[in-house]
Amino acid sequence: MSADRPNANSGPPADAGRGTQRSEELFARAKELMPGGVNSPVRSFRGVGGSPLFIARGAGSHLWDVDGHEYIDYIGSWGPLILGHSHPEVIAAIKRTAEDGTSFGAPSPLEVELAELVIDLVPGVEMVRMVNSGTEATMSALRLARACTGRNKIVKFIGCYHGHADSLLIKAGSGAATLGIPDSPGVPATVAATTIAVPFNDVAALEAAFKANGGDIAGVILEPVVGNMGVVPPRPGYLEAVREITRDYGALLIFDEVMTGFRVALHCAQSLYGIDPDLTCLGKVIGGGLPVGAYGGKRKFMEMVAPAGPMYQAGTLSGNPLAMAAGLVTLRKLKEPGVFEGLAARTDELVDLLRQTLRRLNLKYQVNQVGAMFTLFFTDRPVWNWDDAATCDAKRYAAFFHAMLKRGVHLVPSQFEACFMSAAHTAADVEATARAAQEALKEVCG
Ligand SMILES: *Cc1c(COP(=O)(O)O)cnc(C)c1O
Repeated sequence: MSADRPNANSGPPADAGRGTQRSEELFARAKELMPGGVNSPVRSFRGVGGSPLFIARGAGSHLWDVDGHEYIDYIGSWGPLILGHSHPEVIAAIKRTAEDGTSFGAPSPLEVELAELVIDLVPGVEMVRMVNSGTEATMSALRLARACTGRNKIVKFIGCYHGHADSLLIKAGSGAATLGIPDSPGVPATVAATTIAVPFNDVAALEAAFKANGGDIAGVILEPVVGNMGVVPPRPGYLEAVREITRDYGALLIFDEVMTGFRVALHCAQSLYGIDPDLTCLGKVIGGGLPVGAYGGKRKFMEMVAPAGPMYQAGTLSGNPLAMAAGLVTLRKLKEPGVFEGLAARTDELVDLLRQTLRRLNLKYQVNQVGAMFTLFFTDRPVWNWDDAATCDAKRYAAFFHAMLKRGVHLVPSQFEACFMSAAHTAADVEATARAAQEALKEVCG
């Protein structure tokens, strides 16, 4: 993107596929120092085998690893970088803000500006509290649902991931699925017992859970479009049914839009499907690449949060000025006419090309997409829930992933994750990716 880096978006990388000694050396050192050599499990390539690439820098839609190879990137830091890497306006805002100090532990103006913008953009949010991660957002939203209803149980959906808080680390999709750990040790059985997990896209299963536990259920939390088993959209009418059931039983409906927020639509999944949730969790895009999460919703619920109300929740670095600055620029940019539409249209183009290639090669695999996220599922079965996703040939996905990497395209290193498009991806990127995919699919499915 920036003027002094003319290569940033210049189409297909020429130098992929050579040695990765530096990455491998760093990974060997890292494994001695950090569990599994990483600070978040899915980065480790356990889902696809091999050593992760250590990244030196990113610009626009491209990444460079420490061995100097260039890649078209579809990780986007797992969602936040919707404008692409090191967007000049985001970087400038962070620099400018840092000149005045990095944290005050007192209110500062950028918090007010970002809160106003979020409330303006997200229909279900009347009041918002900033936190530092998606995990904190969902954890706090559950506490709030419990505080508001005086009930203990929570319903979640099998394969949905809501961060790593104890009561949500049950049947939690991607990261855990990739590692083959369905539920984590260390979660007390008494905590796990308060979480009811039911299949996604199955109204009868949710009704049954409420028939059995209705008076004890504080809230239902879901990814309105699931991203954490790969992209799985809601069936027509499903979210409406979830809204109706939660309302009937007096349970709060919590939309976890940490991934889908500003990603499947500018005004989030709730606008796309016309659903009015009680609480909304945000993360990823809202921080523009810096650590931010947020939870918000109806005023009557949010006024329960301290110090307005009795439900305690706090954060030393919450509302951090650098993070607010990055989030503000990112959301303002996305809001400019045509920016989101362009991003969604570019994703459509790539998905169309992938589907054409599958047809041409007579492969019955599924491409699911909503807005600027998509997944190529290596299964013949349409994917509507975790059981469908679990039929994927994850080994073949792994081979495909490496065949793409060799061709200079960095997809997500797991079958059970979403790929992310950014506004910086160009037509040339899309063409190069589609070409690479055709070759890679021939190679691994031939
Ligand atoms: C990423 C994610 C989280 C967790 O956010 P962190 O910032 O990683 O803690 C929660 N919910 C969903 C839907 C996510 O995709």
